[in-house]
Amino acid sequence: MIPLTLHFLGTGGGRFVMVTQRRRTAGIRLVHGDTQVHIDPGPGALVFSNWAGLSPQRLDAVVVSHCHPDHYCDAEVFVEAMSRGTTRRRGVLAAPRSVLHGSGGIGPSVSAYHQHLVERIELLSPGALFEAGELRLTAVKANHSDPDTVGLRIDAPGLGAVGYTSDTGYFPNLGDLYSGVRLLILCTMRPRGAPLHLHLSTDEALEIVEQARPGCVALTHFGMRMLNAGPDAEAAFLEDETGVPAVAARDGMRITLGEHVEVSGPRKKDKTRIIEA
Ligand SMILES: [Zn+2]
Ligand SMILES: [Zn+2]
Repeated sequence: MIPLTLHFLGTGGGRFVMVTQRRRTAGIRLVHGDTQVHIDPGPGALVFSNWAGLSPQRLDAVVVSHCHPDHYCDAEVFVEAMSRGTTRRRGVLAAPRSVLHGSGGIGPSVSAYHQHLVERIELLSPGALFEAGELRLTAVKANHSDPDTVGLRIDAPGLGAVGYTSDTGYFPNLGDLYSGVRLLILCTMRPRGAPLHLHLSTDEALEIVEQARPGCVALTHFGMRMLNAGPDAEAAFLEDETGVPAVAARDGMRITLGEHVEVSGPRKKDKTRIIEA
C-alpha cells in the first residue's frame, strides 16, 4: 500500500488573511508515490512549495477549485513548472469553467497560453472525474460566490477517500456528498457564532461532520475571525461534540493516510498524533 501524504502548505483564506499573510495561502500538495497533485495554489504556493522541498516541476496535476485569488494565484507559474519551463506539454490542469473560460463576469484566471502548455485540461463540474497516477479525483457540488466552485473527493487505492469542501456555504445534504470519507478537509473560514454567507463556520462544519461521519477531520482556510477565536479550540469543540477526531491545520503540517492517519509537524519537535481512522 502506497501512503498518501497531504502537505498543508497554506492554511489561510479570504482577502484579509491573504493580503496580510497571517497564514499562508499556498494550498495543499498531495504526494502519492511518484504522483503529485497541488490543490488551490494561492499566492505563496510557488515560494512555499520550493521552500518545503516539493518542487513544482514534479507536479502531475494542478487543481483549481474556483476563481478566487486565494485559490488560483500561482496556477500559471505551476503550469510553467509542470511543463518543465514550457518545453514539454505535460500534466493536467483541472478547474471549473470560471477559471478556464470565464463565466458571469468572473475569470478566466489561467491564460489560454498556459492552458496550451499542459497535456490535458479537465473541466470540473459536479460529478466530473479524472485520474492523476493512481489517484481518482471527482468534483463535488459547492455553493459559493463563484457559482462554478467545486469541492473534491479523492480516492486512493486501498486508503479510502479524502474530501475537500473548498469554499462553500452550507446546503442540505452537503455532508452526504462526503459520506464515509476517511479524512474530510473543511474550509472553515469562521468560528462558532460568526456565520458568513457562502462560507463555512464551525457551526456548519458540525452539521456536515454529523452527516458525513468521516474517519477524521482537518479544518483549514482560516479567516481573521477564525484565527482570533483560535482554530485549535474550534477543532476541539468539533471533536467533543461529534466524537470524530478533528485537527486544525497549521502551515507546514502533514497528514499521512496509511495503515493509520498520522498528523505531524510543522516542526520536528511537534508530537505526531496517530488517529485510528
Ligand atoms: Zn477562499
Ligand atoms: Zn472563494
